Amino acid sequence: MIKKILIANRGEIAIRVIKTCNALGIKSVAVYSDEDVSSKHVKMASEAYHIGAASPAESYLNIKKIVETAVSCGADAIHPGYGFLSENADFADLCEKKKLNFIGPSGESMRLCGDKMLCKAAMAKAKVPTVPGSPGIVEEVEKALDIAHTIGYPVLLKSVFGGGGRGIRLVHNEQELKQEFELASGESKAAFGKSELFVEKFLPKIRHIEFQLARDKHGNAVHIFERECSIQRRHQKLIEMSPSPVVDQKTRDEVGQLAVKATIAVDYTNAGTAEFLRLDDGTFYFIEINARLQVEHPVTEFVSGLDLVKLQIDIANGEEIPFKQKDLKVNGCAIECRINAEDTFLDFAPSTGRVSDVNIPSGPGVRVDTYLYPGCTVSPYYDSLMAKLITWGQNFEESRQRMRIALSDFYVEGVETSIPLYKTILDTNEFIKGDLSTDFLDRFKILDRLRDDLKKEVSQKGDAALAATLVHSEFLKNRIRPNKEQSVHWKTQLDRH
Ligand code: ADP
Ligand code: ADP
Ligand code: MG
Repeated sequence: MIKKILIANRGEIAIRVIKTCNALGIKSVAVYSDEDVSSKHVKMASEAYHIGAASPAESYLNIKKIVETAVSCGADAIHPGYGFLSENADFADLCEKKKLNFIGPSGESMRLCGDKMLCKAAMAKAKVPTVPGSPGIVEEVEKALDIAHTIGYPVLLKSVFGGGGRGIRLVHNEQELKQEFELASGESKAAFGKSELFVEKFLPKIRHIEFQLARDKHGNAVHIFERECSIQRRHQKLIEMSPSPVVDQKTRDEVGQLAVKATIAVDYTNAGTAEFLRLDDGTFYFIEINARLQVEHPVTEFVSGLDLVKLQIDIANGEEIPFKQKDLKVNGCAIECRINAEDTFLDFAPSTGRVSDVNIPSGPGVRVDTYLYPGCTVSPYYDSLMAKLITWGQNFEESRQRMRIALSDFYVEGVETSIPLYKTILDTNEFIKGDLSTDFLDRFKILDRLRDDLKKEVSQKGDAALAATLVHSEFLKNRIRPNKEQSVHWKTQLDRH
């Protein structure tokens, strides 16, 4: 039985795991970099150990140091959170070798999920439909041209080992493909250490709908409904919800069973997520399995009443999932907004610095997972996610209204945030009607609407800070091209690591 868990992560997710440890009477061990000496996860854990310099390579990705720390402090398990080492199969293997219970799937299964080509092949065998594309890795541009010709343009060049919305490029024709192929492969090498690419048909006006899954070591598997994550920027999610406005119980049962089949196909254990793209005609295509706890897991916790971190720990302990598929029913509706430290008008560039003040909303059906406190720092070294604001309601409209009010109550002074953007989105008719797609921001010119909303607010309230944001946005409008539909050239803060 697990008694002490080292959390190989930082920020809100480290805190999230500590909370369940406390609830279960399990000791929690935090690790931290130079940059995180005063971070909240360090203060909240039962014990905390310094593991290295600010750069992730020297701290949160430092496998040797993390495993050494776990062994020497007497931890019996490791929770990897998301990002960092969470999908690193070598890390999972080393943990098991050192008799540390890795709270996640086996290294072997993770290797299958992390290699999008191997995973697609496993799905083909299990008869889970995937997006049309190359049957394997595409090593030369000539082969890519052949495949693109067969499936038809536009196509995506995808990094076999990509993640976090990075390593995806859209090409419209032969000429673009010739230009982009080498660049994409070089970029993939730089970001993921491996240059392999594959080709996939680009699907227009799609929804991203994923299923939460759990499978125990005895082979019992369930899905815990879907999450709709179609509101994105740079192929990364901004707003998620459960249930999806376009998934009825019949579809949930059908696609949920496909998702369960997908986990069996890669012999997956613990909690995971199967991601799908849904076309307008209702067709679902599997894209990948995320072999970890997902950023947006709280929406599933709200509508299922489960503690997914507890479920992860129980499964790692070798316990059977204590319920069956038929026991699970969607209760109400939950929405999550990822509160990022970023400048919406500056192409979503990260915004960093000291947070001088913060107000965290609360109230019935309101949950905030965050590392923020007045005086804390948003570091340039790590992800821009500062907080997750999640609301629950009996139905979509109640959840949306609670979200609108909570967003108005939420302020973070000292850095730019995505809060104003969400206020605008939540009030659009398209969002209210559930007319969602991964190109929502472009399709409905959301940034222009945000500018108009800011203008209105400034004229009503005369708020100096808002006025400054507005001037800044007008200035940038004339210099920065709007995000061209799905044109993927992502420069996230991770690129700088
Ligand atoms: P989710 O599907 O959980 O919403 P995201 O795609 O937003 O996941 O990724 C979660 C976080 O993990 C992101 O903030 C991203 O920085 C990080 N991440 C995801 N995949 C990778 C990867 N392959 N390498 C590095 N970081 C990653
Ligand atoms: P990652 O591993 O980086 O999360 P995914 O394959 O899961 O990459 O895709 C991330 C996002 O990219 C999707 O949610 C979707 O918005 C977009 N995307 C992926 N594949 C396609 C496709 N074939 N056509 C159109 N958009 C896609
Ligand atoms: Mg994905």
